[in-house]
Amino acid sequence: MSNYRIAAERLLNSRRAIALTGAGISVESGIPDFRSVNGLWSRYDPTEFGHISSFRESPARVWKMLSEMDEMLLRAVPNPAHFALAEMEKRGLLSLVITQNVDSLHQRAGSRDVIEYHGHTRSLRCDRCRKKFQRDHVSLDILPPLCDCGYAIRPEIVFFGEEIPDEALVNAYKAACDCDLMLIIGTSAVVAPAAYLPRRAKERGAFLLEINLAATGLTNKITDLYFAEPAGKSLRAILSAVVDEEK
Ligand code: ZN
Repeated sequence: MSNYRIAAERLLNSRRAIALTGAGISVESGIPDFRSVNGLWSRYDPTEFGHISSFRESPARVWKMLSEMDEMLLRAVPNPAHFALAEMEKRGLLSLVITQNVDSLHQRAGSRDVIEYHGHTRSLRCDRCRKKFQRDHVSLDILPPLCDCGYAIRPEIVFFGEEIPDEALVNAYKAACDCDLMLIIGTSAVVAPAAYLPRRAKERGAFLLEINLAATGLTNKITDLYFAEPAGKSLRAILSAVVDEEK
């Protein structure tokens, strides 16, 4: 039996399957990950420009990077991997997606239940007076964009040096404890606290299916079934095996 069919059967027989996704799933949508040699992160060191203390010290400087990221995200479109996960949810095969990405591409592909571990860029807020702004209502012509109170506003992403929002943290942890199948896609899941999720799921008896171009720290330790190929390719093949099974 092919590994795609094994994966399809696991999905069809699972009580509650969830997906954990990271930067790797969006690379095919033109969004570079931190390791990419080209693109945004070759010009801006993410550990510096992505840190909340840099933003507080010099919002104008960090906003130069954020506005480029904003443009890149506006241009990006969901790829076959995002669409396949949305289709799995529609078919009742997948309960939810936990993503470490801030690009909203899961929702744009049609996924409805998405836990955004690191926030998103659809809205912005002021850290002084807590006022919220929709992204389309904020002009980036002059940087940084300012709140009515005079303070620089920021996207609702989680910067380095900030905590994951409680709600996302608790819901993701619960989902990892309750699932019996976890798809790990485009992430090496090495950064805590997301790193605990596959381990927690495994401890509770879940089957771990991993799709990553290169092997990760999970692959030879806790992964049950590994696909070393682009996520869109694996997920589409698994989905078509599901359709075959259902015939
Ligand atoms: Zn304010």
